[in-house]
Amino acid sequence: VCLSEFDLIRRWFRDCGARRDDLLLGVGDDAALLLPPPGMELATTLDTLVSGVHFFPDADPEALGHKTLAVNLSDLAAMGATPAWVTLALTLPAADPAWLTGFARGFCGLARAHGVALAGGDTTRGPLSLTVAANGWVPAGQALRRAGAAPGDGIYVTGTLGDAGLALAELGAGRMPDPALRRRLERPDPRVAAGLALRGLASAAIDLSDGLLADLGHLLAASAVGARLELACLPRSPVLAAWLAAGGDWNLPLNGGDDYELCFTVPRSRAGALTARLGGLDCGIAAIGSVTAEPGLKLLGPDGRPFVPRAGGWDHFGESGPGAA
Ligand SMILES: [Mg+2]
Repeated sequence: VCLSEFDLIRRWFRDCGARRDDLLLGVGDDAALLLPPPGMELATTLDTLVSGVHFFPDADPEALGHKTLAVNLSDLAAMGATPAWVTLALTLPAADPAWLTGFARGFCGLARAHGVALAGGDTTRGPLSLTVAANGWVPAGQALRRAGAAPGDGIYVTGTLGDAGLALAELGAGRMPDPALRRRLERPDPRVAAGLALRGLASAAIDLSDGLLADLGHLLAASAVGARLELACLPRSPVLAAWLAAGGDWNLPLNGGDDYELCFTVPRSRAGALTARLGGLDCGIAAIGSVTAEPGLKLLGPDGRPFVPRAGGWDHFGESGPGAA
């Protein structure tokens, strides 16, 4: 592999994603020029996925392209930001045309679906690693933050929990997961529409990447409050519900990670507005508990008794494989 092959990578990513009038100058100069709308705040986030840590080295490149962007759009969604421009840094062991074609199809397809433009990027030779910086905008003062939840607020999540975690557990055990679960692991849908609908409504929000207990814990800490959750209220897909009914471990939907759903709090007085604004979304929302003044997280099990989650959360692979990070 010579360096000029890496220059060719530009070929796969020219015109990647949506065309936008506010991208004044994109791929091909020393820097991109963006024109954020007047009066808007810029929300910016960055995530790196490393082969063997965040995904299997032989992962399908198209799914990987999708997920690399999806995890970043999920962070913008959690801020209530409208995604607009992304940059991409690829570190690749070799410029493999088949791999690049698949990756670009997944990445650029999701970008187009969300009206996002690829504004620039960089390629380097080395162990496979994928970094995306995503930028979006939000009306001044309206961004959703982790701080802001108040005692009495309802706690909600979008979609369903634990599907990706169960898919990862099955793969780790050498079994083929149900296709619906596998799709949740490999092609998460960033909840951008839900994030936008929550502007001016949610008192706090976060996206679920590391598992409900860990991420809700961050929100509660930032808001200096506690919470009570009812496990019976956790939204579950039919496959996960059947797995739990057959004796599956409730620690998985609590700690499995990779859900990429939004978790948010809403004052009780706005519950009607919440239903009106988010009730029509495909992903659905579920009320799972309430915010308490007393710090700490109290869980009520499906049997109505207190539930004590396993210390250290859910462990897919021990210390060494994808899912450990
Ligand atoms: Mg996040």
